[in-house]
Amino acid sequence: MVKKNDLVRMKIEDMTSEGLGIGHAEGMAVFVKDTVIGDEITAKIVKEKKTYAYGRLEQLLVPSPDRVEPVCPAARRCGGCQIQAMDYQAQLRFKERKVTGNLARIGGFDPEFLEKIREPIMGMEHPFHYRNKAQFPVGTDREGNLVAGFYAGRTHTIIDHHDCALGVPENRDILETVLDHMRKHRIPAYEETTGKGLVRHVMIRAGFHTGQIMVCLVLNGRKLPAGEELAERLSAVPGMTSIMINVNRENTNVIMGKETFRLWGRAFIEDRIGDVTYQISARSFYQVNPVQTERLYDAALEYAALQGKETVWDLYCGIGTISLFLARKAGKVYGVEIVPEAIEDARKNAALNGISNAEFFVGKAEEVLPEKYEREGIRADVMVIDPPRKGCQPQVLDTMVKMAPERIVYVSCDSATLARDLKYLCQRGYELKRFRAADMFPMSVHCECVASLFRKEER
Ligand code: SAH
Repeated sequence: MVKKNDLVRMKIEDMTSEGLGIGHAEGMAVFVKDTVIGDEITAKIVKEKKTYAYGRLEQLLVPSPDRVEPVCPAARRCGGCQIQAMDYQAQLRFKERKVTGNLARIGGFDPEFLEKIREPIMGMEHPFHYRNKAQFPVGTDREGNLVAGFYAGRTHTIIDHHDCALGVPENRDILETVLDHMRKHRIPAYEETTGKGLVRHVMIRAGFHTGQIMVCLVLNGRKLPAGEELAERLSAVPGMTSIMINVNRENTNVIMGKETFRLWGRAFIEDRIGDVTYQISARSFYQVNPVQTERLYDAALEYAALQGKETVWDLYCGIGTISLFLARKAGKVYGVEIVPEAIEDARKNAALNGISNAEFFVGKAEEVLPEKYEREGIRADVMVIDPPRKGCQPQVLDTMVKMAPERIVYVSCDSATLARDLKYLCQRGYELKRFRAADMFPMSVHCECVASLFRKEER
């Protein structure tokens, strides 16, 4: 048993889903920030629990061979990148191991079988500057200076940082123009503690294929002093297409409020995935890594093995990205999504691309799917599902089994819930055929994954 203030020596063997290194001392797991798998360290125990403890890195005795110098000077303090100090190839091995490990441990799949069917993780050739969207909180530091950047890990302290290594280079100019405008017109930043002040966040989104840029200022109010002057300055940024104001007067961690209006230009930007064009408005969900999204969707399309006539269901469809990507290769596509604005975008995007064989329903997948199946007898040849981290509700899985599609393609951002759901489906007539991880979030511990299931013949 280790106790608070103990100094322990250990080797980092693994990493938690928050990016803390895991070592063992006196039979207890000890979690230590700022370490890399393979490091030999001494750590001071800062907190002890019954079966595990937290330590603070004291001394790096032997650095891991996978250690690299972080590209970003703020990497250690910023909550955005947890594993920038790990060599990128080692990051990919770590993620692949994590996905396969979860499928074995939680999904109950035989590790040898998994090794056989596993396809290599899709890593990025250039794992920086991949994000098409950033949301910078704006605030005031202790000396009263305006700051904008990122929250330090697990806090709301803003690190003043305008040049994130994951984002587009335009972010910096845009942020500095906004801060300059605020200084010039004495516009105060929002303060979480008092609920006073005006500017809360600056959201910037770029269409990688189109070069179009949107800036959305999130305000604790409706009026930005000298807004037109700022719009004029920002409109000089190459690619600027849309400048929006979002109103959020709530005392909440949710970044955007319900009301959004236009300050300059159009109310959306456009981007493409494959040969489908998407209009994206300020509040719509859109995958943040366009390069990897295209590769992930290509894999999903390949796994769906469409011949051209199939009825396809796309559950948790967002703005219809996957639905429309598949529609040209299918007979009919049905999309289901809980956010009404996203479904509006999905319908608009179908029309924009001249796609007439896609139909979208607003509602919870766990309600819409059973209802459509039981009341209307709608069927499916192929089902694609891309749920949030918590995975699928039992009603969804249960209805899928009843609908008995030939193939299921499961896109997942959490391999633990993926493993749980695959186990359920494989106990009820399905067989795991292929799976593949895709690194959508280099420098973070998160990993996306796609799996293909076939219905077994004998049923
Ligand atoms: N497939 C889309 C979006 C995936 S993100 C894409 O690739 O862009 C997951 C989506 O599931 C989000 O849009 C979220 O709003 C939606 N969602 C969350 N819970 C849901 C539920 N119970 N039923 C239907 N959709 C849900």
